[in-house]
Amino acid sequence: MNTYVSRASSEQLRTAKELIKQGETVAFHTETVYGLGANAFDDDAVQKIFALKGRPADNPLIVHVHKRYDISRLIDRDPPYCAALRSAFLPGPLTMVYPSTGKVSRFVSCGLDTLAIRVPKSDTAQAFLRAVDLPIAAPSANLSKHVSPVTAWHVFDDFKGKIPLILDGGPSDGGIESTVLDCTGDVPQILREGLVTREMIASVAGACGIYVPAEGEPPRSPGMAYKHYAPRCETFYCTDPETALARYRKEKAKKGKPRILCASKHAETLPPDIAVLDLGDTPELMAHRLYDLLRKGETEGTTLLIGIEPEEKDGIMAGVLNRFRRAFGVLS
Ligand code: AMP
Ligand code: MG
Repeated sequence: MNTYVSRASSEQLRTAKELIKQGETVAFHTETVYGLGANAFDDDAVQKIFALKGRPADNPLIVHVHKRYDISRLIDRDPPYCAALRSAFLPGPLTMVYPSTGKVSRFVSCGLDTLAIRVPKSDTAQAFLRAVDLPIAAPSANLSKHVSPVTAWHVFDDFKGKIPLILDGGPSDGGIESTVLDCTGDVPQILREGLVTREMIASVAGACGIYVPAEGEPPRSPGMAYKHYAPRCETFYCTDPETALARYRKEKAKKGKPRILCASKHAETLPPDIAVLDLGDTPELMAHRLYDLLRKGETEGTTLLIGIEPEEKDGIMAGVLNRFRRAFGVLS
């Protein structure tokens, strides 16, 4: 199969619609990361996503809809705080988990009685979703466990020859996946941190919890139980530049090719001959650059990718740090 990478022209949108109707998958730009989409009503198409990614069968998918799509046919209950959250944050990087009517394929939610719905802001995503006018089940468009894609070429690297079309909308600005919010209880609860923070949600909904699974309890957001975002080279993680530099020199002495991934604040303290991948100096920039630099970090013969934990921990850095640590195997 040929894999076409194309902007969302009206001709390509017609092709995308045809492909989706035929039960194919189409990858598309969103403002968080690229998604690999299929018709959420089509059992075979949804299963194709799991097969293509090598995704564990108990890791549910998020359904994507356009701004005017009537979600009342998909959700069984709409808790009172949800309308305010939708008008404050949608379209945007917030996924809301509702009680489900069970109308979409049972493979979407992997047997859970809930459904995760997102309304992406990206013009490319909106144009695609309007063209198909169907709920599109879409996880991130990367092979399972690999770093999430933030350009069409990242998707191409993982799926060339395996999917027919990638709708290119340029780099994803947000850079990390959406916040996943459980909206089935009296108070919304964050299942996965992202660019819409707990503080932002609490300011609209009155309160917002963060879900921490109790010992022995099955995770409510199964995806968070898996190792994610791993670059394909050896990695080393530390919290200070001195340790990073010592490990770097050791790798160099072995004729290896190390690189250090860190915030500008740490990068500035390193000697000029060190190969640094600079995450930047604001939380937004660090979110935006993280996956792109993790993908850069694993290429060009790198033998060891060294990560220094950024010092900032609050707001969107909670989500950035979660991905950063997972990429280096510190959280699994
Ligand atoms: P991905 O699209 O690859 O970023 O993964 C989707 C994330 O959403 C995973 O962490 C899932 O566990 C989570 N998710 C999807 N559907 C549900 C649901 N119905 N309930 C809880 N979490 C969900
Ligand atoms: Mg993913």
